[in-house]
Formats: sequence, C-alpha cells, structure tokens
Amino acid sequence: MPTGSSFPQMLTQLVFATANKNKVAEIQALIPSHIQLLSLGEIGVTEDIPETQPTIEGNASQKAFYVYEKYHKNCFADDTGLEIEALDNRPGVLSARYAGEAKNADDNMKKILHEMQGITNRKARFKTVISLVIDGRELQFEGIVNGTILTEKRGTKGFGYDPVFAPDIFPLSLEEGVGQRSFAEMDLSEKNKISHRALAVNKLVEYLNRLG
Ligand code: IMP
Repeated sequence: MPTGSSFPQMLTQLVFATANKNKVAEIQALIPSHIQLLSLGEIGVTEDIPETQPTIEGNASQKAFYVYEKYHKNCFADDTGLEIEALDNRPGVLSARYAGEAKNADDNMKKILHEMQGITNRKARFKTVISLVIDGRELQFEGIVNGTILTEKRGTKGFGYDPVFAPDIFPLSLEEGVGQRSFAEMDLSEKNKISHRALAVNKLVEYLNRLG
C-alpha cells in the first residue's frame, strides 16, 4: 500500500541505525515526539552493521541501506568524523578507531594531541552526515561545526573527542580568564543547540515535517 505519496505515514516508523546510547539520547532530545524512533535492538538487529566505506557520506549510506535491504525497514543512519585541517582532515572517517580497534576515546585524544604538538593551525571541524532511506530512495543531510583543537583536555561531559574540541560558535570563556569552552564543558542541552549532529538532525526533521 505505501507509495511515494504516502511518505507521511513513515514518520511514525523510522529505524535509527545505531547502537550508541549517547547518540540515541542526543537525537531523542531533538526529534519531534510524534516520530517513533526504533532502535536496532527493537527490530532485532544484533550484528555489527558494516562501516567499510572510505568517506563519512559513504558510511552513513552503507548503514542505512544495510538496514533497509536486510530488515525491510525505512531508516536513517548517521556517521560523524572529526576533521583536523593540519592533519589533512584526519582522523575523519577513522575517528572512532584512530588509535586502534579498541575505539578508546582517551587513546584517540592522546594520539591527536601528540600529532598536534607544536602545530599552530588548530582549525578543525566535526561533520555529521545523515542518510535517510525511505522506500529505497536516499537523501543525505549534513551538519558541520567549525572549531579548534585545544592543547589539553578540558571538561568531563560528553563523549569521544569532546574534551579537546572547542566550537567557534561560543566566545572565549570568561571563566578563569583562559581558554575556550570545549564541548565537554557544556551540558547536553547546550551542546544540542549547536552540535554538528543537531544541525544534521534539524535538517532531517525539517524535511520530514515538510513531507507531513
Ligand atoms: P560516529 O560515526 O557517530 O560513531 O562517530 C565516530 C567517532 O567520532 C566516534 O569515535 C566518536 O567518539 C566521535 N564523535 C562523534 N560524535 C562526536 C561528538 O559529538 N563529540 C565528540 N566525538 C564525537
């Protein structure tokens, strides 16, 4: 019965192709309540979804199509990378496992801080790409936050590279008179207003609302 023109019905049954609880919590805080977000667990996915593409865009696409083709569910998937200008945009698509397959955030940050020692160009950006697949048709939504890599970790909130990334959008912190505020020094609600993921999710939500 579903056709291209019956897209709005799909809004209540979208799978979010992730097993990362941090990401689920962030997106649940941003997505309209009338959209029922189904996790991978809820549709019976227990295996790791392949992420073998050489780009952030490719990985998002691969994950969304994997769920669509194997489980016959409309879904969206996201992929995020930290791109550091002075490191030729590394870690990029390798962000999760930059320091090894253990995917350890502290090790990843340590590696970056080491590679950035003595480098004055600290420009970096977080990029999120969301791939939405409905009835086999794909659309992508991108969110980018520009910022700088700090010389040491700051803050204890968030996850991943948050302690070493300070978004440009926030002015220099007046607290203690030094430095910039890292993502890890922000509450989730504060980060959600400006994050790369929030920007991409906002575009996704805007699109879905326009369909409805
Ligand atoms: P994923 O594609 O969302 O799984 O992200 C890939 C990698 O980027 C993971 O290692 C995360 O730790 C890191 N990452 C993704 N989003 C963020 C963020 O908002 N802050 C810090 N690190 C992030």
